Amino acid sequence: MIPSNLTYKRASSIDDALALLKEYGDDARLLAGGHSLIPALKLRLNEYDYLIDISKIPELKSISEEQGHIVIGAGVTHGEIVNSSLLKDKLSFFPEAADLIGDVQVRNMGTIGGSVVHADPAADWPALLLAAEAVITIKGESGSRDVSAEDFFLGLFQTAVEDGEMLTSIKIPISANTKSKYQKFMQPASRFAIVGCAALLTIENGTCSKARIAYAGVSAKPFRDKKVEAALEGKAFNADQIASAASLAAEGVSIMSDHFASEAYRLQMTKVFTKRTLEAIL
Ligand SMILES: Cc1cc2nc3c(=O)[nH]c(=O)nc-3n(C[C@H](O)[C@H](O)[C@H](O)COP(=O)(O)OP(=O)(O)OC[C@H]3O[C@@H](n4cnc5c(N)ncnc54)[C@H](O)[C@@H]3O)c2cc1C
Repeated sequence: MIPSNLTYKRASSIDDALALLKEYGDDARLLAGGHSLIPALKLRLNEYDYLIDISKIPELKSISEEQGHIVIGAGVTHGEIVNSSLLKDKLSFFPEAADLIGDVQVRNMGTIGGSVVHADPAADWPALLLAAEAVITIKGESGSRDVSAEDFFLGLFQTAVEDGEMLTSIKIPISANTKSKYQKFMQPASRFAIVGCAALLTIENGTCSKARIAYAGVSAKPFRDKKVEAALEGKAFNADQIASAASLAAEGVSIMSDHFASEAYRLQMTKVFTKRTLEAIL
């Protein structure tokens, strides 16, 4: 439970972090909240010669509203999201979901950027980013690029962030008449998602004009369920329609199975938590 010897470096800015990544290459790893990386180092699942601490970079720490979007810096902690009045007002399922992550220590140290890049299949943020149609900004030596959440998550612990790059911020469009919720069936000790359902709906005059429904914990890769979305869109938003849409959830998806939940049980819980999430919106 002791990591191998390594050298600790603290980056003062994004450019400084990128320069250190370039200097040390594959021997280095960025350290944000450390709540996924440090356990992996202690278990010797990974070994690096250098850790580059990005947790004190001011540019990564803000939550702001810019030109119809919410912009969240990669270094914003889960706890800061819980307490953000801007997010409570404009994107309420973000603070609600953040409050369900781990315990106080995890929420005070762990960051949204670290969670998203780590891409644990049981992590909560990927489902929210998909439902919110977030755009993720990645910076490397040659500049910044934007990647949609749909193109960002590539598979188990795999994302679009390449060697020598870092995630700098997450941008979410703000739309009128939206309602959002996140509910999860959680692992009782860690609170990681066995099934997490994120829903963001546009509802006008009792009709659901747009639905974005995404899942964490269900499959190796977080995903939007377009059959559930289609079953809601253009229809009256009521209990019957919710029940019918929820019954379609995760059909045809490759579902994980582990000692917390078999494939069949996870599938059933996905339908149950879809219904609960949509009923909470109703
Ligand atoms: C007991 C416990 C309970 C938990 N419960 C939950 C839970 O209920 N739900 C949940 O979603 N998560 C949970 N987590 C995980 C937690 O949310 C972590 O904080 C998160 O997964 C990683 O964020 P971090 O800032 O700690 O990243 P770190 O551990 O510092 O880094 C993780 C990885 O991301 C890379 N990285 C970090 N930031 C960047 C960046 N800006 N750009 C590029 N690469 C970067 C690092 O190099 C590393 O490879 C739990 C963790 C623990 C220990």
